[in-house]
Order: sequence, then C-alpha cells, then structure tokens
Amino acid sequence: MTTEQSATPPSSLDPADWQELRAQGHRMLDDMFDYLEHLRERPVWQPIPQSVRATFQAPAPGKPNDLAAAHQTFMQDILPYAVGNSHPGFMGWVQGGGNPVGMLADMLAAGLNANVGGRNQIPIEVEWQVMRWVRDFFGFPEAASGLFVTGTSMANLIALWVARTAAAGVEVRQQGVAGAAPHLVAYTSAGAHGCIAQAMDLAGLGRNALRVIPMTADFEMDLSLLQAAIAADRAAGLQPFFVAATAGTVDVGAIDPLAAIADLAAKENLWFHVDGAFGALAILAPQIAPRLAGIERADSIAFDFHKWGQVPYDAGFILVRDGAAHLRTFAAPVSYLRREERGLAGGSPWPCDFGPDLSRGFRALKAWFTIQVYGTEKLGEVIAGTCELAQYLKRRIEASPMLELLAPVSLNIVCFRYRCLEILTGETESDTKKIDRINADIAVAVQESGVAAPSTTLIAGRLAIRAAIVNHRTSEREIDDLIDATLSFGAAICKIA
Ligand SMILES: *Cc1c(COP(=O)(O)O)cnc(C)c1O
Repeated sequence: MTTEQSATPPSSLDPADWQELRAQGHRMLDDMFDYLEHLRERPVWQPIPQSVRATFQAPAPGKPNDLAAAHQTFMQDILPYAVGNSHPGFMGWVQGGGNPVGMLADMLAAGLNANVGGRNQIPIEVEWQVMRWVRDFFGFPEAASGLFVTGTSMANLIALWVARTAAAGVEVRQQGVAGAAPHLVAYTSAGAHGCIAQAMDLAGLGRNALRVIPMTADFEMDLSLLQAAIAADRAAGLQPFFVAATAGTVDVGAIDPLAAIADLAAKENLWFHVDGAFGALAILAPQIAPRLAGIERADSIAFDFHKWGQVPYDAGFILVRDGAAHLRTFAAPVSYLRREERGLAGGSPWPCDFGPDLSRGFRALKAWFTIQVYGTEKLGEVIAGTCELAQYLKRRIEASPMLELLAPVSLNIVCFRYRCLEILTGETESDTKKIDRINADIAVAVQESGVAAPSTTLIAGRLAIRAAIVNHRTSEREIDDLIDATLSFGAAICKIA
C-alpha cells in the first residue's frame, strides 16, 4: 500500500478513481455549455408530464448509485422542466438570465466549499471587495457596510431590523418590539413588493404598523399622502421611523420620487430605505442612472445581483450607510465565535455580524467573477438594452389595434392586454371579467406554446399580460414572437369566448 492510498479512509466520499470522475465531470460541464449555447432552440418552458413528477417520489436510496445515471436523470427529467428564466423568451415575473461565467464561478465556489460566515480567509475579502464596489456604485461613504443574502426579500428584512434597532435603541434586541418600541410605524407605497409587509410581520412590528400610501397616476408613491400619513400618526402619538421607497416596482417598473422622499425622511427623521430589487443596478447604465437620483442618500438599499445583474441565483445584497448601526443590530458575543488578532479567528468583524446567517455560501464569487469578467459598463449596456426592448414592445403594442397598453413603460416592464373587440372592454364589470379571463388564458397559452413566457398581474383592477424584460439574451426576435403568439392565441380564444 502506498501512503497516498492509505491516507484516504474507506469512509471518504471521494472517488477511488479520480480519472473516471474527471471524465464524468467534463461531460456534465459540456452538457451545460451545450444547454446554454442552444437555449434558443428549446421551448422556454413546457408542461411537466406526470411520469416525470413521479420520478421524484422515490424514497432515498440506501445503497450507492451511478453518478452517470444521476446525471442522465438530470438531463432527461430536470433540465427540460425548469422555469426557463435563462431562455431569451422568458419575460415572466422579474427574473434574471444568469450567465456562463457566473455558472463557472459557482462551480469553483462549491469546489472550495467555503463557509463565508467568518474567520480569516480571502473569500471574505472577495465579499468585502464587492461590497466596496457596490458602495462606489451608489456613492455611499466608507463607513457603509454590506452583505450578500439570498434575495431582496431578506435584504429588505435586514434593512428593517437595522432601522428598528436604530430607532428603538439596542435594548429592543433584549426587550423585543412590544417592550422597547410599541409605537413604531413604517411607510411604503401600494406599488411596493409584498415582502415589505412580510418584513414588518417577521420583524415583529406587524403588518398593521405599515402604512400603504396610494400611488399617483404614474404608479409612484404619492408624496403628499405620505406626508399626511406621517402627520396623522404623529398626532396619534405613534413614532414614524421607516419609509421604503421602490426603485423599479414589481408590477410596472415605476421609480418612486427618491430625492423628494429623501428630503422628507431627513425632515421627519425617518430611515430612508430603497427597495431596488431589480431597478437599483440601473445605476450602471448612464442613460438611466439619472432617474435614480436620490438613491445615493438612502440609509439602506436592497437589491438583487440575480435579476438585472445576471448573476446566477441566488445573490441578493443589502447595503447600509451606517455600518456601525448595522453591526449593532446583529453582532452578538458568543464564546465559540471568539475573535483573535491573529490565526483563523482573526479578521473581525465577520459577515455573520451583519445578518442572521452564521454559515453562508460563497455567493460573492459568482458576482465577483461576473463583474470582473464583463465589467460594469457591459452590465450597464445589458440593462439599458432591456429598457430599449421594452420601448420596442411598447411601439409594437401601440401599432396593433388588437392590443392596448395598461401602464406607462418606465423601465423594462410592459403591461398590456388583448382587446377582443367582440366584447366591449371595460364597459361593465362583467365585460372586464370576461376580458380578464381571456387574457389570463392567452398568457397560459403562450407559456404552454414554449414560444415566450410572460406572466400576468392586475393593473387598476384589470388583468394585464406582463412582460418583464430582464434577460441579456432577449432580442427583438423574442419580442416579435411574443406579439405574434398573443395575437394568434388572442384571436382564437376570443372567438370561442
Ligand atoms: C423581486 C423583487 C423583490 C423580491 O426579491 P427576491 O430576490 O425575489 O427575494 C422585492 N422587491 C421588488 C421590487 C422585486 O422586484
């Protein structure tokens, strides 16, 4: 026996034959390159056969199975039945397309198996470097802090926790909201994402303590109503502490009046948070960045690298202006996480001091690679390009008598519907209901055709087909496909309605 052989215990999960694993691994990598190279030839999404679902009902195997067989199951039964958000025809919800460089980086991160919760390691320096890049994007000071998280839902929650601790004092961590801060109230607009209300719930403040301010005709938070709500709450003896503006609303892509909200928040001593889940990274597109003016004054910004940033899922980010306040919210001395000046326990503060997670994957690496390899200018061009495509889609809708826009096209989201002239639109409630049903059916038919994948939403009580163009692979061809499919399914569904 050589020493090398005896060094690997029989219980190890490493292979007996690395050559064989290497060859298998190369086949897996090649399959993913093939998938990405030939995405356009596949349907965006396809209905899932019951037999495929049944494959995943089997109990956990006790005995080993062949890796090549598991890979085959992946190719046959998993890969074809994903949501399809990497596909250029995907326009549903707001989802990013990922990128091949980020994919490779994720493989490297998994190979390294880095736990980026803390300790003295360069993977944390990579995360801090991306944090400093983000700080620079938004003109934040050196005292700012930031962290990778799952997504903007978590980033918004972290912002709310930090704001709560800043408003109520650190005692709130001991006494809870009921003991230390029973009167805190927060504000957001009716166009805000549902995770803001959920954050109020999870932070123990309660959804009732969130004032939902109506929107203007442009789908932006109505500033005078915000002001009035704050005044009413103060008069009632409550403590306004937090306002969440949105840069790029999920329904229509509207941008709240950030600079005016920043002014008001300063005057009223509120924490000014921006949910910029997809919109914030428009700061990288010189054509759009001026419309985000005011974001540089935020106390915190939540956004996703996995949406407009095209980094593979998941890669959310929270940026906090006052890094000390951020640290005060989460840092907790426990003996097994003791820090040292040198050695592995050096390098304090650690990422786990800035959020609720202790063990954390190396999300930063795929964002670092994406920015390092493509550069911020290219990423900005991708973002601007999707907005230009949205304008192209808007023009095509305006040129089609059978289609109508349901909301202004502010960024990359287009909400429209099929008009179905056989039915008088919007004349009566029952007409609206019928038109809503028809458009919901059109959206499903387009999805099931595999040609494009829009989603739907409600705009001013009417069902809209919603195209959120986020993916760097989308071109005018996919926009044309969406229009053609909507018109042909619309005509067919309308006829039988
Ligand atoms: C997508 C989105 C969210 C939620 O972000 P996740 O990354 O899915 O958690 C929040 N706000 C807005 C405006 C969004 O578009």
